[in-house]
Amino acid sequence: MKNVTIIGSGPAGYTAAIYTARANLNPILIEGLQPGGQLTTTTEVDNFPGFSSGIKGPELMDEMKKQALRFGTEILNGEITAANLSKNPFSVTINEKDLYQTKTVIIATGASAKLLNLESEKRLMGYGVSACATCDGFFFKEKEVVVVGGGDTAMEEANFLTKFASKVTVIHRRDQLRASKILQKHAFENNKINFCWDSVVEDIMDPDQGKVTGIKLKNVKTGEVTKKNCDGVFLAIGHSPNTAIFKGQLEMDKMGYIVSKDGTKTSVPGIFACGDVQDHVYRQAVTAAGSGCAAAIEAERFIEQS
Ligand code: FAD
Ligand code: NAP
Repeated sequence: MKNVTIIGSGPAGYTAAIYTARANLNPILIEGLQPGGQLTTTTEVDNFPGFSSGIKGPELMDEMKKQALRFGTEILNGEITAANLSKNPFSVTINEKDLYQTKTVIIATGASAKLLNLESEKRLMGYGVSACATCDGFFFKEKEVVVVGGGDTAMEEANFLTKFASKVTVIHRRDQLRASKILQKHAFENNKINFCWDSVVEDIMDPDQGKVTGIKLKNVKTGEVTKKNCDGVFLAIGHSPNTAIFKGQLEMDKMGYIVSKDGTKTSVPGIFACGDVQDHVYRQAVTAAGSGCAAAIEAERFIEQS
């Protein structure tokens, strides 16, 4: 029987591992299909405290893993394919075969940015293509960028990017925004923001390989394909929380994010959620790590009291 099973190896999962391991709870952590989580898909991380000159995303995650191992976390390469959270002890299935019983579960499975499914977008992620303006906007000082999407996130990202970029163009597939009226108003009033309506990105261009120079746009009404110069492409077409295996077992909001109360407690006592899987607002490494710490402390208290 395990005391604590941590699902996910992003900043939230590793922080929960460091804290529960130091509390002598001998946690087991299952890495999932993306060991190290989302930060392994980026280059510079400039806003994680403690690294005054910045640090590469994969390097930061490697350090977190080493720190979790130093205190005795058992780390398994694999994926949780099923979980039974209906009674304590809970059970989780790894890679559809190994069944573990556990007193508590810390869910740190993150959320994935929705992508356009272009080959160029995957190749250039972290090299001019981003799904996080807060993370990467700083690298586009006095540059031209586009934001893809017409929702609240796209408007917030576009507004935020005008702090750095010389010009921001919102590319939207319809001629009306989905965003709330107030965020639309802010965007329409911002003279650095332009709109390109009824258009989808067909390709991202990088003739110098690794440096975005523009996009190919298709007008969905006329079918016309045009080129637009830009230095950066920010995707803001939504995120999907990785919660499919817990559906029907935990309270979730309408977008599928786990609802957490009093910090990281879920609707089932003994199950805790931390990081992006329960946070569609901040979505930062440091907030994920902070909630991982909180989940670990809550798990420790739960075990002490039961
Ligand atoms: P994630 O990092 O998403 O990790 C989720 C983990 O869960 C993964 O290890 C995955 O394998 C695992 N998992 C999922 N399903 C299962 C399963 N069924 N079984 C087992 N494991 C599973 N934030 C910043 O603060 N600064 C930045 O500069 C920054 N740059 C970014 C750049 C990019 C390109 C992206 C995409 C994000 C960036 N972010 C940045 C955001 C940051 O990466 C996230 O907020 C953070 O990683 C969330 O951490 P997490 O631990 O909640 O989840
Ligand atoms: P969203 O509301 O789902 O909007 C996604 C946008 O991307 C839509 O405009 C959609 O177009 C477009 N889109 C989706 N797939 C696309 C594709 N393949 N190609 C091109 N465009 C595509 O997502 P979100 O903006 O991330 O917001 C998520 C939730 O968080 C919402 O409930 C939102 O209100 C909330 N949120 C709130 C705030 C705030 O209140 N400050 C800030 C951010 C987010 P269509 O419009 O045509 O569908």
